[in-house]
Amino acid sequence: MNPTRTLRAFSKPPSYLLIHPRHVSTTKTTKSSAVVTASPAAAGSTASNVLQTTFPQQIESLNDVAKPQPESPLAKLPLSNVLRSLLILSVSSAPFLLKPCIYTLSALAHPKTALTDVDRNPVLHWLIKKTIYKQFNAGENKSEVQGSITEIKNLGFRGVLLGYAREVLTGEGKTSTHDEKVAQQEVDAWLKGTLQGVEMATEGDFVALKFTGMGTQAVELLQKRLPPSEYIDAAIRKACDATIAKGTRLLVDAEEQAVQPGIEDWVMRYQNYCSQQTPGRATVYCTYQAYLKSTPATIAKHLAMSERDGYTLGVKLVRGAYMKIEQRHLIWDTKEDTDICYDGVVEALLNRRYNSMLAPAVDSVDKQTVPPVGLIIATHNRESVQKAHSIRLNQAKENLPRIELSYAQLQGMADEVSCDLINGFEDAARGHPHQALELPNVYKLLTWGSVQECMGFLLRRALENTEAVARTKDSQRAMMTELWRRMKAVLTIKN
Ligand SMILES: Cc1cc2nc3c(=O)[nH]c(=O)nc-3n(C[C@H](O)[C@H](O)[C@H](O)COP(=O)(O)OP(=O)(O)OC[C@H]3O[C@@H](n4cnc5c(N)ncnc54)[C@H](O)[C@@H]3O)c2cc1C
Repeated sequence: MNPTRTLRAFSKPPSYLLIHPRHVSTTKTTKSSAVVTASPAAAGSTASNVLQTTFPQQIESLNDVAKPQPESPLAKLPLSNVLRSLLILSVSSAPFLLKPCIYTLSALAHPKTALTDVDRNPVLHWLIKKTIYKQFNAGENKSEVQGSITEIKNLGFRGVLLGYAREVLTGEGKTSTHDEKVAQQEVDAWLKGTLQGVEMATEGDFVALKFTGMGTQAVELLQKRLPPSEYIDAAIRKACDATIAKGTRLLVDAEEQAVQPGIEDWVMRYQNYCSQQTPGRATVYCTYQAYLKSTPATIAKHLAMSERDGYTLGVKLVRGAYMKIEQRHLIWDTKEDTDICYDGVVEALLNRRYNSMLAPAVDSVDKQTVPPVGLIIATHNRESVQKAHSIRLNQAKENLPRIELSYAQLQGMADEVSCDLINGFEDAARGHPHQALELPNVYKLLTWGSVQECMGFLLRRALENTEAVARTKDSQRAMMTELWRRMKAVLTIKN
């Protein structure tokens, strides 16, 4: 096989992570479960400095009414956050505004002059950093990232999934897979970013990573479904050891089918490695894409392997972000089919009972009970999240055993779903706002890196929004309602 050619083929523009030349993230994000303790004081303390100096009294009043009000989940967000989200969501849901923004972001992601280079033009740097960067990214260095993690936790989130935005350029014929020195440098860069992520994360958080971020040689091995080289193996083990020592967890992203089976092989290998050091706890999570028809069978196969080897399987379930580049026949025919698959797998894992969607693998020993599993429901879909939470509430009420469960959404996206979850939709609806039976562990996926390193990531967020205009409009409405609620509260106080 000609590696250059296969990499080029592999580099067709995907919807979520790729655009332009083949860039591969070196590391990525994380999330996990948590205790719900919203801190209104913290919410008030982070309001926009810029706005504070312009309209100090009015902003103070609007922040005051942001203090805890069970009927308004977004009340816990600082006003600056609501205003910024509203601005960005308004642009994202208007195609005539979004298109020029995408064009601009694309130019900034690939600067041709110092004027358009965000790291060299201080005015541009300031502007981007205070707006879209602040909305979707966690910080440029350790203190900024840790500040963002603290802010997120003060809002009631259990923690974060922390990912590094830096991308490694591969697949352009510049790197030979047989140049061992270059290959090792790529792996070293990946390991450095991953270890930095582990260092910045706090106990219980997740550090997200991509195996393809280890460079050209790793991509070739994954494509051919071969085991990692000795050098790559040592690097991944170092990442595993560091995460175990810190009490964090590793989340391996799902990618295109060209490499995904190889990624899964590697994840299973390191799940097994970590489980010997953290028995009973999933430390490495594999990501499964519910839009693939094969996903229930893949999960069942992995459950049988974990059952055989006696460890807890780590499952992060997403719908999947590569529809535009995958072979269509691999994917369910309709969005509704994907939804049914997603919710069916979640139901089976939460109840630890195989069902009509998740059937046991041929080599599973117990054909009824799903073996121990840790689950991350990574979605912005309100219905899926509500269904899962409803199952958990019933389990709590009936005093049934519950698996380790976390929910995750991207920073700056679907805040209304995240905040509703933190409040526990159904508890509130049933009039038990203060005594939640089931406190959901909600995480936000934060991406860190310099403003320039994050430009590719920001461009992809903008592109993703072009495909989710309906959901963007929902978020925009929720933010508008929240702003209106605060304004009415201020007017009521004044009168
Ligand atoms: C925390 C987090 C981590 C993520 N990590 C990854 C990752 O590692 N790998 C990855 O691939 N993605 C990842 N994603 C992205 C994810 O796969 C989805 O693209 C994104 O979340 C939108 O799906 P949804 O469930 O949030 O929302 P929804 O709007 O309910 O679902 C949209 C999704 O439905 C599916 N779909 C849409 N139309 C059709 C159709 N006609 N037929 C079949 N299916 C259809 C697609 O998967 C589409 O993305 C992540 C998302 C989150 C929130």
